[in-house]
Parts: sequence; structure tokens; C-alpha cells
Amino acid sequence: AKKTSPTVQELYEKLVHGDRYALSRAITLVESSRKDHREQSEALLSLILARQRQMNTEQKTVQGKPTFRIGLSGSPGVGKSTFIEAFGMYLLQQGHRVAVLAVDPSSSRTGGSILGDKTRMTYLSRQDHAYVRPTPSRGTLGGVARNTNEAIILCEASGYDVTLVETVGVGQSETMVSEMVDMFVLLVPPAGGDELQGLKKGIVELADLVIVNKADGDLMSSARAATLEYTSALKFLQPAYEGWRSKVIRVSAKEELGIDKAWETMTEYFDVMRNAGHIASKRGSQRKLWMWRQITNELLDRLNRDDSVKKTVELMEKRVYEGTMNSGQAADRVVDEFVKATTME
Ligand code: GDP
Repeated sequence: AKKTSPTVQELYEKLVHGDRYALSRAITLVESSRKDHREQSEALLSLILARQRQMNTEQKTVQGKPTFRIGLSGSPGVGKSTFIEAFGMYLLQQGHRVAVLAVDPSSSRTGGSILGDKTRMTYLSRQDHAYVRPTPSRGTLGGVARNTNEAIILCEASGYDVTLVETVGVGQSETMVSEMVDMFVLLVPPAGGDELQGLKKGIVELADLVIVNKADGDLMSSARAATLEYTSALKFLQPAYEGWRSKVIRVSAKEELGIDKAWETMTEYFDVMRNAGHIASKRGSQRKLWMWRQITNELLDRLNRDDSVKKTVELMEKRVYEGTMNSGQAADRVVDEFVKATTME
């Protein structure tokens, strides 16, 4: 077996004893693309896996609470941080430990960020049993998503039983988040009609729960109308899992109304899914999916690094572009060249 460096061992010990600083350091480690950091984070994750298997806590925290991963999405301004702040505080009152992570699709493209620019969830982040992770500011969306997967494992190992993964309403990031959580929740504004029409259908289809926010004051009647519209839009969808039909509820994050109902609906989902064995199978399939993502990325990385392959790639691209060669045949040539290059190494 590979020797684990003392620092990884130390970090691991502190992490599993709930040391918040160690958790932050561990997440920074899995976010790093440096080779030695990658090795260290893999060692750390292996230690965690071994511990979970030994203690039979694959789906529980050390305190014995089932771990529940919730994705939360919605367009900017819909009230995500207001909701998470209120919802998180509610969960703390119920005796949960709450971690909040974010997948920010804007950071990879612009270097700026939709989620991270303002100070978010200041009240929640100051609580003892809450951990709010600032948005990673670097890396590709795919990379950030993979790191978030690993960050979830770290948070759970550190004793947080509810992990919220927040993302902004951009198609690709929402799909990725839905592929790393047990339940995907969509937060929507109190408007229907045209806006609902404009909403990407595919995203609504991903949602296990739609929460209409801002159901308060003057917005109450629009919130009611939106609830009806989403309910009928979801009615025709095939349930992804037997035993659960996507639901629509109303809350006011600002007035802290319906927060208990939101949690009740989420636990209802979680119980149905868990009792049917769907949580375990969903996580298993997700792990397989991310393994294949990583294989694809790693292979592409290596392919692009090899000089002789690069030459073939350029030539094939040119021929395919000109139309003098079929794309399938060109792809075969690139793969053959890659295999040849790697077997000669
Ligand atoms: P985010 O961009 O999705 O994180 O949205 P924010 O949580 O920052 O909220 C955007 C704006 O909507 C802020 O001005 C909030 O005060 C307001 N807001 C959030 N939740 C509610 C709500 O339940 N009711 C009302 N009336 N306003 C809300």
C-alpha cells in the first residue's frame, strides 16, 4: 500500500473530528489541480472511504445521522441565498448540521462569479453547526463539479448530515448538480405565463421539488398562479422513481413562511427513496457516471499532451473540415495514433 504522508493523516484526523479549518483545507486540496495535491486528496478520500466501510457509515455521519444531499437551483434574484439562510437556520434548530457548497457556472468563463460577488448567508455561516463554503473561483465547470462531488464526501465525513449544493440557473450546471445529489430542488419566482413558457423545460423535468418563492404580500396571488402552472406542467411528466411524483410548494424565504413545509416535503421524499433503496442505487450510479467523466477527461488530457498525436489531430481536423475525409474514419485514425503512442512509451 502507498505510504500516506503525515500531513494527510493529520488532516484526516482533524477532519473526522469536525475541525472546520481542516475541512476548509481539505476542500482546498481537492480543488487543486497540482499533481502532488491530487495525490494527497486521493489518499485522504481513500482514508475516508476505508473508515466508512469499517464503521459501516457509508450513508451516515459518525453521529449516526443519514446523509442527505440536496441540490438547489434557480435564476439570479429568485431568493436562493435568502432561502438557504432561513432553511439552514431551521435545520440547525432541528438538530442537523448543515454544509452549503456552490457550483458557479459563471466563474469558469469570466473569472467573475454570479454567486460569489456579494457576501452570502452571513448569519448562517457564523453558526457552529453550519459550514458555508465560498464559491470556487477557478477552473472549468466540469472540474468544479468534480471537486464539489469530493467536497460533499468531505463535509459528510466531517459530520454534516445535510449538504446543500447551490447553483445558478444555467442548463449545464444544473444537470451536473442534479447528478451529484439525492434530491434536486428548483426555486422559482412568483410568476407564470410567459416566464414559465420561457423556462427551459428540461430543468423543470430535473426537479424533484419546485418551490415557488416570494409567496408574500403583493406577490401572493402571482405565487398561487405560478404554483398551479407548475403543478400542471409537472403532471404530464413520467415520475423518475416509483413512489415519488414531483411536487410544487410555496414559501416566503424572507418572511420565513413554509420553510417547515419545505423540509417536511424533502424528508418525505428522502424516506420514500431510502426505504425503496433508491438513494443507495442513485449514489452508486452517480459514482459510476463521475468515474467515466474522469476517464474521458483524463484520456483527452493525455491525448492533447502527446506531440505525435497532436500532429495527427491537426491533419485529421483539416481533412474533416475540407470534407476530404469522413469524421468517423478520422476519429479512428486519431485513436489508433494515440494507442500507438501510449504503447510505445
Ligand atoms: P439569489 O440571487 O437567488 O441568491 O437571491 P437573493 O436571496 O439574493 O434575493 C434576491 C432579492 O429577493 C433580495 O432583494 C431579497 O430580499 C428578495 N427576496 C428573497 N426572498 C424573498 C421572499 O421570500 N419574498 C420577497 N418579497 N422577497 C424576497
